[in-house]
Amino acid sequence: MEIFDVAVVGAGHNALVSACYLAKAGKKVVVLERRPVIGGAVCTEEMFGGYKVDIGSSIHVLLPQSGIVEELGLDKHGLEYIELDPFAFYPVRGSDKAITFYRSLDKTCESIAAICPQDAETYRNLILKSADVLRLIMKAMEVPPNQALFEIIKTCIKQPQSLRRTIKAKDVIRHNMTSSLRMVEELFISEEVKAALVWLGAQHGPQPDAATSGAMICAYGSLHEMGVYRPIGGSGMATVAMGRVFEAHGGTIITSAAVDHVSKAIGGGACFEVKAGDTIVQTKNVLFGCHVRTAMLKMLDKSLLSDDIERKLKATKISNASGFMVRQAVSELPQYAGQKVDARGIGECHSGMQLLCPTVDTLVSTMHRNRVGELATYPPVMQMTFTAVDPSLAPEGKHLLYSWSSYPPYHLANGHWDDIADREADRIWDVVCEYSPNMKGKLIDRYVQSPLEIERVLGMLQGDVCHLDMGMDQMMSNRPIPEMGNYKTHVDGIYLTGSSTHPGGAVWGASGRSAAKVMLKEM
Ligand SMILES: Cc1cc2nc3c(=O)[nH]c(=O)nc-3n(C[C@H](O)[C@H](O)[C@H](O)COP(=O)(O)OP(=O)(O)OC[C@H]3O[C@@H](n4cnc5c(N)ncnc54)[C@H](O)[C@@H]3O)c2cc1C
Repeated sequence: MEIFDVAVVGAGHNALVSACYLAKAGKKVVVLERRPVIGGAVCTEEMFGGYKVDIGSSIHVLLPQSGIVEELGLDKHGLEYIELDPFAFYPVRGSDKAITFYRSLDKTCESIAAICPQDAETYRNLILKSADVLRLIMKAMEVPPNQALFEIIKTCIKQPQSLRRTIKAKDVIRHNMTSSLRMVEELFISEEVKAALVWLGAQHGPQPDAATSGAMICAYGSLHEMGVYRPIGGSGMATVAMGRVFEAHGGTIITSAAVDHVSKAIGGGACFEVKAGDTIVQTKNVLFGCHVRTAMLKMLDKSLLSDDIERKLKATKISNASGFMVRQAVSELPQYAGQKVDARGIGECHSGMQLLCPTVDTLVSTMHRNRVGELATYPPVMQMTFTAVDPSLAPEGKHLLYSWSSYPPYHLANGHWDDIADREADRIWDVVCEYSPNMKGKLIDRYVQSPLEIERVLGMLQGDVCHLDMGMDQMMSNRPIPEMGNYKTHVDGIYLTGSSTHPGGAVWGASGRSAAKVMLKEM
């Protein structure tokens, strides 16, 4: 039987990035994916008769900045990015006022100044002062955790002025450490500006009342420096390109192969046997790219797991910060009061995230209700309309409207997600129509992704799109647990990548590249 150097379990984008680097280095690699398609939560599928629908992520910020696209030549295999500028838009409910977040900090500040001039200056200072700290954090995130400190020291020696500014910027460090709720309360005056910033920051990372969620507002501010992108043809074009690069380097992909058992191989030169139903693969190393709990507690042979490791893995925190997504085919785009549009009904408000959350209290009350299993009284919505920038996604004249609402509980106090998901999608549609009354009667079809549906289809337990909570206690080399914090596990030859590992969830690929680096050193 053929013996592979590495069997990669799961074809999420991090696993595919690892697979590409390993195959490029001459290793014999096989990828086994449970679904009929590769990509995990970076995947676009055809639905509703001719619409190309993202089933997970849509917006790419970090992957285009990582250097991975160029290093692997993804751009030569079908990945082409378009920039989303403006990247976010906050319509003030019941008025024709709005805040628009452009790539240009100056233009954004002008937009904020129309609501509150003092807040515009505060925002500018916060973003400019945060820039150095964020660059340092990014450096630490892009390398394996055991190299992070070294990377930070190297950057500080190379850029002493940046270190000096960081030390001086005491308030900024404090603001990054605190919660986003406390930060906006301390810094900003206008309720609309506060709500826009907290809801924007809440799109990733810890919840707005958690320590370090302030960093998420500063991090979103860095979008002025980095820009926000998405692949033409859908988010999944990134993983399509990864699959092509991997195969071009001689890699093998097996889809519809749900791995159910990984054990030690007996003789014959292989170390492990990976079983996916009738498919059996012999390999010297295994790289798990799926959820760490699925890998270690469901697939790994029990004899390879100690009680201590098992207890620690079971105690890892899966966040309540799951999402609820409705993918809607619509016959026109939502119109916002006071926004200019062209003859097709397309305006700059449609290019990025549209933030429908009237007040900070709407979000705080949602967060508290969700923690006890209740649904929001008024769901805050973040919606996206990418057909405005990429008409190839829908039949001519038609559009896609994605509406995302945080943080619906996976464990409901009452009822079952299969019974209430449609009703919840209707309530979200009501919010869409309240902001944009033109949408009444314009819904053609929809695909509802409750936390349970996200878990079933994508294997993201409890619908946590980052696999595990992104609180400080589960970051860096503590992700997922200290014994597995540097992509290696307690079993020689078994490695981890994906959102369960450093630096966590989002479309980035940093975990995939770092895991491959660690493996190549050891193989
Ligand atoms: C609805 C939604 C919207 C999102 N929006 C954004 C966004 O706009 N921007 C952003 O940056 N991030 C976004 N995210 C988060 C981001 O997409 C994820 O954090 C990231 O893609 C996860 O990548 P991963 O490498 O950890 O692998 P995953 O995507 O988790 O893939 C794991 C793979 O393992 C496979 N697998 C599981 N079990 C088995 C098995 N037994 N055998 C074989 N294979 C198995 C799964 O099928 C899957 O393909 C979103 C996620 C979701 C769900």
